[in-house]
Amino acid sequence: MKIGFIGLGNMGKPMAKNLIKAEHELTVFDVVPEVLAEFKKLGAVVGNSPADTASRSDLVITMLPNSPHVEEVLSGAKGVFEGARKGTLIIDMSSISPLVTKKMSQMAVEKGLRLIDAPVTGGVAGAEKGQLGIMVGASPKDLEAAKPIFEALGRFVHVGDVGTGQTAKMCNQVVVGLSLCAIAEAFTLGVKAGIDPTVLHQVLSSGSARSWAMEVRVPQVLAGNFEPGFMVNLQHKDICIALDSGKGLNVPLPFTALAQQAFEAARAMGLGTKDHSSVIQVYERITGIKVSEATKSEK
Ligand code: NAD
Repeated sequence: MKIGFIGLGNMGKPMAKNLIKAEHELTVFDVVPEVLAEFKKLGAVVGNSPADTASRSDLVITMLPNSPHVEEVLSGAKGVFEGARKGTLIIDMSSISPLVTKKMSQMAVEKGLRLIDAPVTGGVAGAEKGQLGIMVGASPKDLEAAKPIFEALGRFVHVGDVGTGQTAKMCNQVVVGLSLCAIAEAFTLGVKAGIDPTVLHQVLSSGSARSWAMEVRVPQVLAGNFEPGFMVNLQHKDICIALDSGKGLNVPLPFTALAQQAFEAARAMGLGTKDHSSVIQVYERITGIKVSEATKSEK
């Protein structure tokens, strides 16, 4: 398939590489020239705008940070809507507001195009291994057309109509954000009370406190490694999307609101581009301890 891929960051880069491995022909676009040079070496065509990228493609994938980036790339000047041929399928795999997804989908339909949402979970490791969890909002016909793409990138669940993939994703991010805050509280508490955090991790990993965050992020925290991964700024953005949706639907989300404040504090500490697990540094500052330095066993 001739695929246009726009947004080659932490996630988009390994995803686009997997599509090249699956023998699709790629035209790529990003605002960072270095990553484009890397893809040129891999045999991809480099588009000079989203419109140009779309004009060379049967299907366009976007993997961008947030709603405004998606709106600009799709409907802005030299955007995908300007260049795409009638009938082109656009798959937005970014995590954005479901309301913006619905608005973009409506605009696409008015231009004779099709747009579906397919945000992902599984992180950079999942993207690299082709093992992403993909949450799809699409009509059954559009889902059928997109299946070869999803199969090259991971496994998918058809959540429902356009926008429902984003709804599932924001619920996922409420759980992940709150889990990281719970972990930060538990580990600062345990360490301040004198327990070795490595031992605490063994205990909490083997019982009812088990989770993805416990399994994947805590070892990184204990190693003092806060490189993303998934940035604090993106986690904060996802939680704000959930809070906005809660407001619109009259659903109170008090614990999510507290988590939003913890990630806001991390941003205020200059940790916005660090991994979301660095929210623990907010608690470390308050309590005056450093969890990674409290490990007594060999690392
Ligand atoms: P990132 O910031 O690493 O990558 C975004 C890319 O988009 C960058 O390369 C940037 O240069 C490019 N970009 C920004 N504006 C652009 C524009 N106008 N035109 C072209 N390119 C543009 O972010 P990421 O971690 O890859 O995340 C992408 C999306 O996936 C986000 O919505 C995020 O919430 C979601 N997500 C990330 C992870 C993760 O672990 N990193 C996991 C699941 C979902």
